[in-house]
Amino acid sequence: MPLFYDEDFIKHRQTSYHPECPERLVRILQMMEQLELDAEILPVRPARREQLTLVHDGSYLDMLANFGEGPYDPDTYVRPETYSIAEKAAGASIAAAKDTLRNGRSNIVLARPPGHHSGRNYAGGFCYLNNVAIAARALQKEENITRVAILDLDVHHGNGTSDVFYGDESVLYISTHQWGIYPGTGPIESVGEGTGEGFNINFPLRQGMGDGTLRDAIDRVIRPVLEAFTPKAILMSLGGDGHYADPLGGLSLSSQGYVEAYLVAHRMAEEMGLPGATYFLEGGYNIDAQAEVVWGIHEGFSGRTLDYKFTDVEDPHGMGSDIVDRVIDVHKDYWDL
Ligand SMILES: [Zn+2]
Repeated sequence: MPLFYDEDFIKHRQTSYHPECPERLVRILQMMEQLELDAEILPVRPARREQLTLVHDGSYLDMLANFGEGPYDPDTYVRPETYSIAEKAAGASIAAAKDTLRNGRSNIVLARPPGHHSGRNYAGGFCYLNNVAIAARALQKEENITRVAILDLDVHHGNGTSDVFYGDESVLYISTHQWGIYPGTGPIESVGEGTGEGFNINFPLRQGMGDGTLRDAIDRVIRPVLEAFTPKAILMSLGGDGHYADPLGGLSLSSQGYVEAYLVAHRMAEEMGLPGATYFLEGGYNIDAQAEVVWGIHEGFSGRTLDYKFTDVEDPHGMGSDIVDRVIDVHKDYWDL
C-alpha cells in the first residue's frame, strides 16, 4: 500500500513545545520500521495555484505566502517556509485521492500541516490550507466526480471543511467531535444551508464518550446516510486526538475502536463498489497512540489487525445514544433514518 509523504512535512514547525510537532510524523515512520510494515512511499508535488483556489481565495493565499514569520493566531504560527510546505501537503492530498480512484486502493496521506480548521479565507487551529477540501474539489473538477462524502472523526469539529461545503449538496460533511472545546462550532442544529441543507451532520459528543458511542453513530446514522447519498468518493479526516490517551482531547476511543470506526469508510467503499477511501492526517497529540491508529487503519486495508498497546475501553455501550437520537430527530427530515 502506498503512503503519501514528503520530508518537508517534518520540517514544518509551529512554536517550540507545540503539540502539532514534527515528532507526530517521525513516530509514525518509526513505527512503520519497528513493525516491519510494508508501505511504499510515493513522491509528492505541490498543489497548483488553480487547485488551491478551488477552495481558498487568491487574496488569502497571497497573504499567507507573504506573511513572513509570526503568529497568525495564538495557536497557529507562520514561518517563511510554511506556505510552500502547506502547498505540498495539499498536493499529496490530491495525489492520494486520485490514486485511490485510479488504482482502486485506499490510501493514507501523512502530511503536515493538517487542514480541517482552515476555511476559504482563514487559517486556524494549526491549519493553513484545507487538504481534504482541496482534494474533494480537485476530484470533482479534474476527475468528474459528482458526490463526495467527507467523514471527520478528529476530536475537533472541522469548521473549515464545514464552512467550505455548508451550502453545497454535492459534498456531504459528517463530523463527530467533542463539544465544548476548540473551535466551538458544530452543534446538531448546523445542518447546512440552501441546497446544502441536510448535507452537514454533526455529532457534538460529551467528554468520556468513545467506542460504543461512535459505533452507535455509525450504525444508526453514518452508514444509512452514506448508503443513501451514494458518494463517488469517500474522504476521511484522520484525527487521532479522540483517543483516550490524547492530551488535548477528552473523548475515550481505544486504538481498536478508533481504527474500526475509521475502517467503516474503507469497507463501505468496497460495499458500494467504490475503489477505496482516502485518509488525510489531521490532529493526534499522543504520538504513540496516533501512530497505532494510523497503522491500524493501514493494516486494516489488507484485513490484518495490529497488536495494540492502548487497549482500555471506557465507553463500551455507547453512553452518547441520546446524542445519536437527537441527530436522528433533526436529520430525519432529510434522510430516511
Ligand atoms: Zn483535532
